[in-house]
Amino acid sequence: MRNLLLLLVLTPFISPSALAWDAPGHRAITRVGIERFKEKVPDSNAAWIAEDDWSIQIADLATMPDRWRNIRSPSLAHLNNPDHYLDVEDLTDLDLSLETIDPLRHEFAAQLRLARESHPGAGRASGPKDFSKTDAYPGFLPQAICENYAKLQSNFKTLRVLEKINDPARRNEVQALRIAIAMSMGSLAHFVGDCAQPLHTTRHHHGWVGDNPNGFTTKKEIHAQIDADTLRKHGLGEASIRTQLKIAPAVANMPDPMNPWPAVLKQIEKSHAQVEPLYVLEKSGDLWKAPGSAFINERLVDAAGFLGELYIAAWESSAPSDDDVAIFVKYDGFAAPNAPTPASPPAEPSTK
Ligand SMILES: [Zn+2]
Repeated sequence: MRNLLLLLVLTPFISPSALAWDAPGHRAITRVGIERFKEKVPDSNAAWIAEDDWSIQIADLATMPDRWRNIRSPSLAHLNNPDHYLDVEDLTDLDLSLETIDPLRHEFAAQLRLARESHPGAGRASGPKDFSKTDAYPGFLPQAICENYAKLQSNFKTLRVLEKINDPARRNEVQALRIAIAMSMGSLAHFVGDCAQPLHTTRHHHGWVGDNPNGFTTKKEIHAQIDADTLRKHGLGEASIRTQLKIAPAVANMPDPMNPWPAVLKQIEKSHAQVEPLYVLEKSGDLWKAPGSAFINERLVDAAGFLGELYIAAWESSAPSDDDVAIFVKYDGFAAPNAPTPASPPAEPSTK
């Protein structure tokens, strides 16, 4: 009863427009992504990530960006909701494209504002029910993936600095970094997973909108069918992703460790190219037969494969230099528990 009440209270605030795979899909993608990482990164300092408890927890953290919709906070919704999609057709309306959009979030927002000014009436507009003021944005999915990738890369580097320092008294710092890495791996997994769901790359995310010469479904249920029903019906998950990845291991495109943007755009392009085929499968009923099973599994495999490549790239590019270690030590001000606090330097006179 309590859960039902909670659901009734929260339901109006959960925008269905941006949920992608339900939790089982996100978890499965993450678990297999971690397995890929484990296969390619034999570094013993990274082995803890693939340990069962951590791997299960990281997979659960991959569901967090959807759970952040459980409160009605304009601040959080404004930041979080558009990170889950990019409606590619909306770029075209503003004379933008995947080739021309800016990889940097705020530069892209400025680019959109300028494009709307020079194309009056084009693109999306914020309506009266848009409490988070996000309707005017086509989405920030590729930026979100790159930002979360960089956070992971940075957290990996800090952990590896601590490993170089190798001071048993810093065990809490090491543990805190492991938690930070788990959170980064989870968030990155979420958005990489969303990217592989074709309905997260299109304005036709809840049924076909506008001109419809092929008579595709306009029912909004199609989104939930892809997110959850197809996985349940076809029994897709970790096992089916793993099996397919073994058959076709070269499925992912390789990110440049210092600039994953082009590879991320390629993932979005690939997923967007599957929007019409998905609607065709829905129309023919094949979505619920073998072709539908193969189609959805291929999307999950694509996500897990690319996620693994991002994890590997982030690790391999995060080895700290001696300078990194020296800078960390200089500013960290570490004092072992129970050690006397070092004397503070005299305060600088304030200039403010
Ligand atoms: Zn999402």
